[in-house]
Amino acid sequence: MLNKLTIVNGIIQDKFIDGITVKLAIIEPVGKHNVRTLELMKEIIGLTYHNTANTSATAGDEAHARYFDSVEKADTSYVGAHLFVDCDSITQVLPINEVAFHAGDGKGSGNRKTVAIEICENKDVAKAEENAKKLGAAFLLTYPKLGIFKHQDWSGKYCPRVILKRNGWTMFVTDIVNLKSTASQTPIMKKTAVSVAQAKEWVRSKGASQEFIDLAPLFWKIANEVGVNAAGAYAQSAKETGYGNFGGVLDASYHNPCGMKTTKGGGNYDRNAHQRFDEWEDGIAAQIDHLALYAGALGYPKTRTMDPRHFPRIKGKAPNWEDLGGNWAGSSSYGTSIVSMMKQIEATENPAATYTLDEILALEMQSAEMTARALNSEDKLRRIKEIILE
Ligand SMILES: [Zn+2]
Repeated sequence: MLNKLTIVNGIIQDKFIDGITVKLAIIEPVGKHNVRTLELMKEIIGLTYHNTANTSATAGDEAHARYFDSVEKADTSYVGAHLFVDCDSITQVLPINEVAFHAGDGKGSGNRKTVAIEICENKDVAKAEENAKKLGAAFLLTYPKLGIFKHQDWSGKYCPRVILKRNGWTMFVTDIVNLKSTASQTPIMKKTAVSVAQAKEWVRSKGASQEFIDLAPLFWKIANEVGVNAAGAYAQSAKETGYGNFGGVLDASYHNPCGMKTTKGGGNYDRNAHQRFDEWEDGIAAQIDHLALYAGALGYPKTRTMDPRHFPRIKGKAPNWEDLGGNWAGSSSYGTSIVSMMKQIEATENPAATYTLDEILALEMQSAEMTARALNSEDKLRRIKEIILE
């Protein structure tokens, strides 16, 4: 899966990007610095794609890294690029925040403000391009404002020549943007992979109220019935209620886990604009139904629901948690902040020797089945005896 990159002092720390091996071969600065400029970029505005224009079978990312190293040592000509990508790996040769001469625009923005990605042409160029797109998408996930450029944009040079030759640049950029947007989505309708115990452990570490900690199994039960990711619903509730400590306009007596308004609605700071539920089960059911409706779940809108704002017009407006920003709440980062809380729950260690509600139910079913079977065989035995006695 594509994730954000971890970059420290311009060096990519990730060993893999969506399964592609990332190698480090940072050129050591020597002599006149024909590769290493040792000049930090003042800002990074984007990525610049190139083709290596070397079709020799051995001219992969590793070979180019060795070549750069020899150029640095030889003090002859200037070359620059930050990353080489071929069909099976990516090699970083310069810190991504160091100025490199690759764009042919002298002191222009290409050289001074963009990260150069060289696509190797040695073997499977199509695969190398796919890898280069994933690398670009990983950069966009990390720095969403980066632009995507081609060498040609800076100096007119016919580069990246393989892509330009087939008139494929627009599609190349579209693919990167699509890779990025599909990677960063977290569906609301998805069975959670984390346990109640993990969730409890997480909220406990955040100073949650005991009442809120104890509600975790109920969230899991109701969310799992509907198919909503329980960890997401619980995280949302933690966000809305301050981990059950409230302190805002509502208190626990509202049994309102998500700041749900009444049908009529009203201001965020108007207590009367918020729905009061008889018990937590109702409030959580309302939240889950509201989420499922936003996600466009099958069978929604429902005819019978605790959700006071079950408006058909919101159906399918937010299939992913990220989409809740600007929908459920005005803030555009509302959904992404829930997603980062979900990641914290995932990262919480699963405490041993506890049972999830599902596990308890499964065990109960098992023992009920065993009892039924035992009764059944007892019954058979009795009938056999009866037959014999007859
Ligand atoms: Zn180029």
